[in-house]
Amino acid sequence: MAARIEHGAVSAGDAAGAGAPRGDATGRAACVRDVLRARGLRYSRPREAILAYMAERPRHESAESLYQALRERGEDVSLSTVYLNLGVLVDAGLLRVFEGVQGESLYDASVEPHDHLVCRETGEVVDVPLPSVEGVPLPAFVKAYVERATGWVVDEVRLSLRGRPRPHGEVAED
Ligand SMILES: [Zn+2]
Repeated sequence: MAARIEHGAVSAGDAAGAGAPRGDATGRAACVRDVLRARGLRYSRPREAILAYMAERPRHESAESLYQALRERGEDVSLSTVYLNLGVLVDAGLLRVFEGVQGESLYDASVEPHDHLVCRETGEVVDVPLPSVEGVPLPAFVKAYVERATGWVVDEVRLSLRGRPRPHGEVAED
């Protein structure tokens, strides 16, 4: 079963995407309310602003860059509010978090199974689909394999991909 990448297909995407026409702030707020309520969370303006911004297009933002972007939009939020709400939204499964090139936390509104290839030089992040091994998604395969080999219980499988874009004209070797 191949993993699909559909940015904004779930969760936060519903908040600012298909559910409400763009520019319809009232409809969008109601929609975000529903998404938050479905996860047992209270609506707040910072939560709406964070989810809406993250769902606009594939974004991988640090708390600081998200804070800057929201301030530029005229949102009256503090950095600590952004941090606090990012944590809440991750715990609720509306955002996921992974590690950037400097070890910083980056947040992603796509919670579909996918991984991240990070450029060592620029910090650029590319979404990559997860391959399957013998029909099993890679993380589940690694978990089962390592548990068999060690007798331990594996709680978490993290794949860390670092690289750089291939220069134009450079041909991939097979
Ligand atoms: Zn991503």
